[in-house]
Amino acid sequence: VQGRVVVIGGGFGGATAAKYLKKWAPGLDVTLVERNSNFVSCPISNLVLAGVKDIEDITLAYDGLEKYDIRLVHDEAVAIDPDKREVRLANGDPLPWDRLIVAPGIDFLYDRIPGLDSPEAQSRVLHAWKAGPQTVELRKQLEALPDGDTFAISIPAPPYRCPPGPYERISLIANYFKQHKPRSKVIVLDANPEITSKKGLFLDAWDSLYKDIIEYRPNNQVVDFELAENRAILEFESVKADLFNVIPPQRSGLIATPLVTADDRWCGVEYLGFESLAIPGIHVIGDAIVASPGMPKSGFMANNHVKVAADAIIARLAGAEPNTAPIIANTCYSFVSDTQAVHVAGVYTFDAEKSTLLPVEGAGGLSPERNRLEADYALAWARNIWADVLT
Ligand code: FAD
Repeated sequence: VQGRVVVIGGGFGGATAAKYLKKWAPGLDVTLVERNSNFVSCPISNLVLAGVKDIEDITLAYDGLEKYDIRLVHDEAVAIDPDKREVRLANGDPLPWDRLIVAPGIDFLYDRIPGLDSPEAQSRVLHAWKAGPQTVELRKQLEALPDGDTFAISIPAPPYRCPPGPYERISLIANYFKQHKPRSKVIVLDANPEITSKKGLFLDAWDSLYKDIIEYRPNNQVVDFELAENRAILEFESVKADLFNVIPPQRSGLIATPLVTADDRWCGVEYLGFESLAIPGIHVIGDAIVASPGMPKSGFMANNHVKVAADAIIARLAGAEPNTAPIIANTCYSFVSDTQAVHVAGVYTFDAEKSTLLPVEGAGGLSPERNRLEADYALAWARNIWADVLT
């Protein structure tokens, strides 16, 4: 099979896409565009916040992809031109494509929290929801917090990247406080009416391990922020804390804007090849898509979307039809302390009647309890997926 495929974004989705396209169809000309020089993993980044791992442990090089003869371009994709079939770059020449994969992850909707809609505010009140410099900075803020001071975290309404991620972060920061700042508290401002993922497992851990540390407040949506006073504004009240971590509402990465079809923020696709519903010939994968019911925005999912999409792209370029029965899976581990973890798993298959991927009944489920073995599995899962994405 011959043809030019350009991939925007070298994260969990995009880097895997470039690799598998070349593995399965070595004749393709594949270019991967990524703005960052290294891959920094969001999975395991909450352990960096808790001081259990270092940023170096979650920072990986792209050179493991060299052997696949992928053209790796470290640049910013600034526009997609569907008429000319080109991607424009900030610095380099435009890249022509026969098929384009857009995998830019997420960007943030700061206009929904006007007080944080400025570079100064965003440099003080961090999200740390894209692993990298903010992960390191939030760790420093947590270390500098005097014992007895309060930390508050806000969780947006779904859909957002990694449904269990905030609850893992809360557990790990409470674990850090328990060991190093026993008089400090974690206030959770959750826009949701209840914990949205692994609820029983998290509540059980919080109840037995962090009873006097975590204060969970459901239906607490942050709608504004007063920077001078370090105060989050909710619908009917306001909350002051010494340190805030605000995870803002999210949308598909900005470069995907021409492909947005849902709620002004997510990209609709068909699920047999992840081809855009807005512009034919362009495929969208990972966090940026409208996830079909029950499918989380996760690195594992992004890594699975790609395999369906790459297979369909190769079929289309060869003039064939894609596989009509893809099956994909997801497992999300969450640490509830520095030594114990839990997981949720799901399997999804294509439902021809509904034209979407739906959970397979009876497959997947939750871990029955938190334990050390799950923590070992969680670290092994991370090593395995990093290897699948980058080597
Ligand atoms: P990303 O991995 O974010 O990749 C997007 C890439 O595109 C980035 O490298 C970005 O730099 C690049 N990019 C964007 N726009 C441009 C542009 N215009 N030009 C050039 N480059 C561009 N998932 C799990 O499966 N398991 C977990 O345990 C887990 N834990 C998590 C914990 C936390 C704290 C967080 C925040 C997330 C976690 N996730 C986990 C979710 C996971 O990180 C995301 O779902 C995953 O990264 C999505 O992959 P993606 O390829 O869509 O986006």
